[in-house]
Amino acid sequence: MSAIIIDGKALAAEIREKIKEDTARMTSAGIRPGLAVVLVGDDPASKVYVRNKKAACEEAGILSEEYTLPASTSEAELLELIHKLNNKKDIHGILVQAPLPSHINFKTITENILPEKDVDAFHPYNVGKIMIGDFDFLPCTPAGVMELIKKAGVSVSGKNCVVVGRSNIVGKPQSMLLLKENGTVTICHSKTENLADFTKKADILVVAVGRAEMIKGDMIKPGAVVIDVGMNRNSEGKLVGDVDFSTAKDVAGYITPVPGGVGPMTITMLLKNTLKAAELSSKIDLK
Ligand code: NDP
Repeated sequence: MSAIIIDGKALAAEIREKIKEDTARMTSAGIRPGLAVVLVGDDPASKVYVRNKKAACEEAGILSEEYTLPASTSEAELLELIHKLNNKKDIHGILVQAPLPSHINFKTITENILPEKDVDAFHPYNVGKIMIGDFDFLPCTPAGVMELIKKAGVSVSGKNCVVVGRSNIVGKPQSMLLLKENGTVTICHSKTENLADFTKKADILVVAVGRAEMIKGDMIKPGAVVIDVGMNRNSEGKLVGDVDFSTAKDVAGYITPVPGGVGPMTITMLLKNTLKAAELSSKIDLK
């Protein structure tokens, strides 16, 4: 058996087309959605992420403003910029690229972004809303994962869902979104004993660990939906996921590739959140 590949690149292109149309409608109604992306320091991977986000905004017709600050920027200086962006009328979404230099507290920065401009959904207010299942913004990566599962045509309701990883940006919110769709959710992490006992029972398996190819085919239930969030470089420098694609594809029913799975969906959900932020602040209803 060979799994059906869930093509994140194609799905992202489809959703971005709709975002582009809605952005054009909103712009002609007088409000052009705008995103500010803040980069502190010169981490090469972060620079690439920021460049990709900017290009995706431009492609969709969304205004994008980039603020690049030196690594020596103090927390107070960054907060000053955040407060300026909070008050900027043409900016509907603010994204601060992680990681920040160690002298800046990411939590403090996140908590100072206005919840209605928090398109990453990291502010405690938005995290709380996700917890109670009443949200405006969904965190980008988990939201992208839900779209990929939907694309596979598999209903989450009643399914055994296993999330490997419990970070605040992926694993935890992912579990909440699967729970909202009536999945029976188990969260695994680095202290989980006998990980394979859990993963082998998963009808839907989402892996967000950050360890190259750690989930092998023999840890997967035959026919399962396998979503690989991981982005790692293997010993040859090749981009690989947390799932060993070569063995997993013979067992899973559906699988996302790396690259071309979750990655393109994450940026797409950022665009969607920016559009939503503009819609909410302007009271223009795109429905
Ligand atoms: P974190 O490092 O914040 O979290 C990793 C999680 O994995 C932790 O909860 C940790 O457990 C758990 N873990 C570590 N080792 C094991 C193990 N041996 N067995 C089971 N669980 C383990 O990572 P992120 O959540 O931020 O990211 C995870 C991966 O997803 C990374 O590869 C990252 O690059 C990628 N990513 C991809 C995105 C995309 O757009 N495609 C977006 C965001 C992330 P514990 O809590 O106990 O330490």
